[in-house]
Amino acid sequence: MIPFLDLRAINAQYHAELKDACARVIDSGWYIGGKELETFEHDFADYCGTQFAIGVANGLDALILTLRAWKELGKLQDGDEVIVPSNTYIASILAITANNLTPILVEPNLSTYNIDPVKIEQAITSKTRVILPVHLYGRLAAMPEIMEIAKKYNLLVLEDSAQSHGAELNGRKAGNWGHASGFSFYPGKNLGALGDAGAVTTNDEELANMLKALRNYGSHEKYKNLVPGVNSRLDEIQAAILDIKLKYLEKDTEHRRLIANLYLTQIKNPLITLPLDGVDATKYTQHVWHLFVIRTDHREALQKFLADVGVQTLIHYPVPPHKQQAYKKWNDLSYPISEQIHEEVISLPIGPTLTWEDAEKVVQLCNSFKA
Ligand SMILES: *Cc1c(COP(=O)(O)O)cnc(C)c1O
Repeated sequence: MIPFLDLRAINAQYHAELKDACARVIDSGWYIGGKELETFEHDFADYCGTQFAIGVANGLDALILTLRAWKELGKLQDGDEVIVPSNTYIASILAITANNLTPILVEPNLSTYNIDPVKIEQAITSKTRVILPVHLYGRLAAMPEIMEIAKKYNLLVLEDSAQSHGAELNGRKAGNWGHASGFSFYPGKNLGALGDAGAVTTNDEELANMLKALRNYGSHEKYKNLVPGVNSRLDEIQAAILDIKLKYLEKDTEHRRLIANLYLTQIKNPLITLPLDGVDATKYTQHVWHLFVIRTDHREALQKFLADVGVQTLIHYPVPPHKQQAYKKWNDLSYPISEQIHEEVISLPIGPTLTWEDAEKVVQLCNSFKA
């Protein structure tokens, strides 16, 4: 059996170090808001090339609290419009509606799966305040173009980097393009904790300070509450684990790139559309292949064909946000590119511990698939 992603094997690579770190935290008697968090925040900011990283409880909170912080700082108000890709994972949109802001869904480019900058500009109104690009599947969105548009219309940019730790464009990493960026360290993400965790990266000190208050009941100083905050903290034990896994992230990503390159060069089947490669004209785009997403008109048959021989695949995602029950008022709207993507995509196994042998088997099977 070839699993889609083997989390046990991924963490087993660092078994001894992870156990030592857990033991250190257990024996320290200090479990929240201590040295482990401080170290990880410092190291993760350093990795992304930003001045600040603020640990929070999960990736959704990273996005929710950043928008919330901008409201507290007077930069946003209820009803302001936030431009977001229509094919994103629903969390990006939940962060907007949770803040009483209005999501404006904008279609992606079919070849990159990322938000189309031309359509962003067409969607701007007098109420637009934020662009929330998502680096979907591990590929950076068109950030140079997006930052140009943001500058021209004086908009804030919040990157959703939950799927793209370490991805680069023109030598600049995810999390270091916008005014702020939300990361998730959910176990299945490229940098995964052993539980829930998330972070915001930014170069804006005022925003960083507001986030530190918001995640801790709105308090900078014990028993003094500046704003009505929440409890959204990153535990010491998860911070210690993440700091170890961060050291190996580049190595893990390199393995994903080797597998992606094998798939890109060896899968040859007219029924299958492969993703674009991970390199742009400047030879600098470094896709981190959180997911290897192909398209086919015969998705159900391909998924069954692979499952019957023990290859697990997943669909990211089967239902677009505007067709969800949670957003009933959008159910009749039409986003044809997103709808096509949601009907045709299927994700092949990829990850830091997928063996070369298994990857070659996936290639052979994809090549032998007939409708
Ligand atoms: C995983 C994910 C999130 C949410 O992260 P959690 O840690 O699960 O809350 C947000 N956006 C995208 C694109 C994601 O893939």
